[in-house]
Amino acid sequence: MKIPFNKPYFTGKETQYIREAVALGKISGDGTFTKKCHQFFENNYELKKCLLTTSCTDALEMAAILLNIQPGDEVIAPSYTFVSSVNAFVLRGAKIVFADSEDQTPNIDANKIEALITPRTKAIVVVHYAGVACDMDALMALANKHNLFLVEDAAQAIDSFYKGKPLGSIGHLGAFSFHETKNIISGEGGMLIINDDRFVQRAEIIREKGTNRSAFFRGEIDKYGWVDLGSSFLPSDIIAAFLYAQLENLQDIQKRRKEIWQLYYTELLSLQDAGIIELPNIPSYATNNAHMFYLVCNSLEERTRLIEYLKTVNINAVFHYLSLHKSPYYFSKHDDRDLPNCDKFADTLIRLPFYYEMTPNTQKTVTTNIKKFYGK
Ligand SMILES: *Cc1c(COP(=O)(O)O)cnc(C)c1O
Repeated sequence: MKIPFNKPYFTGKETQYIREAVALGKISGDGTFTKKCHQFFENNYELKKCLLTTSCTDALEMAAILLNIQPGDEVIAPSYTFVSSVNAFVLRGAKIVFADSEDQTPNIDANKIEALITPRTKAIVVVHYAGVACDMDALMALANKHNLFLVEDAAQAIDSFYKGKPLGSIGHLGAFSFHETKNIISGEGGMLIINDDRFVQRAEIIREKGTNRSAFFRGEIDKYGWVDLGSSFLPSDIIAAFLYAQLENLQDIQKRRKEIWQLYYTELLSLQDAGIIELPNIPSYATNNAHMFYLVCNSLEERTRLIEYLKTVNINAVFHYLSLHKSPYYFSKHDDRDLPNCDKFADTLIRLPFYYEMTPNTQKTVTTNIKKFYGK
């Protein structure tokens, strides 16, 4: 039997809630289940204002519009990330100034940012890779010192914390994903977090095609019209109904995922102790939300052989991001700076199969084969 890399987990209530949403007779955006999801996050994670979106990509695009990113503005971001973290800003004409990752984690290195700030710099985008927090105190201090906005791409970071603060709640804006590869899913889906009051009203307008329809539906105004830029960023209540079934089971999902993560760590620790591979490093200020389990090989060639070997025993382990500063779309726009840590993770990081229903035996099949590959 093949061991897949990912397998979406359904809690069992998804179709029931979708039927309820249909029975309520209103399946467009901001219906009953959307409101329940917003309340869930605002109550459980001290997130000031949440707005479900159709994806994390869309939440990031909303962030770029909210921050008034204009052609020629510069945005500092990691190169080791998903395209959407930066594409949202490129769509508004920004130039991306890529910063290197830390040595010990794929997260942006706060110490390498200040040298990249110019009078045109408008924002810093940070990505909490694998749900492990970036060094937010240092990053927020930089943003405040230079009057920059900070956007947290928290796509992978649900239920994860920095010094006790929920990720997504620290920067001016945050974005989550509920894509089926994340911890909590709705197929496609996302959420924008607004932590700065200045942006709340306009975020609702941008999300509703540039109209003040949200305020109209609340009875705050007696007619609505076109008042700003915008697009259709809100999901159907059917999507929210699916998501709510997941949220009700968040604690259970997280508990199981953390067990999976811990078993991988325990089983593979001997390889790290022998200096053969590196396991994830969780800084003391960060929690681990068990979004993924990765290990770091010694070279691209070794990683390629490991992936190939695991394929021969029906295990689907995969590499992750390719450096965006070297991508076909952006390399000619990138300045010549090398980003060695980013390249290192692009070449050597490998993600292991990880899904809720994975059994300890299946996990041991994976770890035994990895040990076999390394002759242990
Ligand atoms: C998954 C992911 C995204 C994109 O999320 P979508 O909901 O698919 O748009 C963006 N950034 C990071 C870091 C991600 O992991």
